[in-house]
Amino acid sequence: MSFDVDALRSQFPALAQEGLVYLDNAATSQKPQVVLDAMAQFYAQDNANVHRGAHRLSARATRAFEGARHTLAKFINAPASEALIFTRGTTEAMNLLANSLGAMVLGPGDTVLVDEWAHHASIVPWQQAALRAGATLLPIPLGRDGRLDLAAYERLLADQPKVVVLTQISNALGARAPLGSWLPMARAAGAITIIDGAQSVAHDVIDVQALGCDFFAFSGHKMYGPTGIGVLWGRRDLLDAMPPYQFGGEMIHQVSFNQSSFNQLPFKFEAGTPAIAEAIGLAAAAQWLQGQDRQALIAHETALLEYARLRLSELDGITLYSAFEDNAGALAFNVDGEHHQDVGVWLDQAGIAIRCGHHCCQPLMAALAVKGTCRLSVAAYNCRDEIDRFIAALTDYVEFLY
Ligand code: PLP
Repeated sequence: MSFDVDALRSQFPALAQEGLVYLDNAATSQKPQVVLDAMAQFYAQDNANVHRGAHRLSARATRAFEGARHTLAKFINAPASEALIFTRGTTEAMNLLANSLGAMVLGPGDTVLVDEWAHHASIVPWQQAALRAGATLLPIPLGRDGRLDLAAYERLLADQPKVVVLTQISNALGARAPLGSWLPMARAAGAITIIDGAQSVAHDVIDVQALGCDFFAFSGHKMYGPTGIGVLWGRRDLLDAMPPYQFGGEMIHQVSFNQSSFNQLPFKFEAGTPAIAEAIGLAAAAQWLQGQDRQALIAHETALLEYARLRLSELDGITLYSAFEDNAGALAFNVDGEHHQDVGVWLDQAGIAIRCGHHCCQPLMAALAVKGTCRLSVAAYNCRDEIDRFIAALTDYVEFLY
């Protein structure tokens, strides 16, 4: 299979808009027609609640919903689909873990490690879990070279943290955590390992068994799927032992006014009516991705980001942050002396959508000693011409200044 960016682009209706250069994919990606069709088809023909109806529509909806779970388990090479929990996204997955796993494993004096470039979705739930348990949340700091600091990580692991949360690809920077060596180190220190895969799921081929993590979380909307749906995959023995996170319908086995018992996996963690159409849409996105030549797609994105990095580094008055050759998806920069928001508004006038701000990473911004940055982020449907238009508009801005 070869990779034809124009053919790929034509599958995304939103990209047909005149003059739009969409480089805000780390925030959310556009959706291919097959995802829109899968959701429309569900609502038009199969719409019913799942797991509880005797009628044929409910049976069809249940088959489609559980089929989606199966598809997604295969997508990340999970050994069993029962250990794949549907959530609203990475944020809800992290809250589930911090509440449920946190209550099970954290006690006074314990530590939890989270990397300093983590999204607030990883930091705040674990900060609150640590507060409840009398434990301490500690950052794995950024080193001077702009990568996570290995020596500091080794020192922090020596205290045998209970939980280590690592962001596979930083949404604010595009930089990668060295999971190949860092996950075994965490395991050797006895920690439970959690990967925030919100960004990596769109840019890497994910194999949770090869990674060797205990938990992996991602959001559908960043991998060409719908909003309001995401996945938490976890080690089955841990999920079995963990208490439920939310209570209500679906997640129970038996209820009386005196006591309740709870359902088995995955339903124990899926209280209430799930996001059925969204799960089906997400499975369509996973199938769509699997139907592409993934290696060609990754090579295209890597080359595009490298091109953007080189073009940006040629401009005067631009500071780049943690812009490495192995970055995936995103690059962060500022125009020296300029507010990031002003740059974003200028680029928008040229039809170019990037993101400006703290990217839900305020501790990282503090470490970089900035209030915010500009971030360009690419998806498989972006092309060189779009990077050229972005660079041309940014050059105009810089020349307008000086
Ligand atoms: N983690 C990372 C690295 C992210 O980029 C994001 C979203 O930007 C999140 C977590 C939170 O994802 P969501 O808002 O889809 O729950």
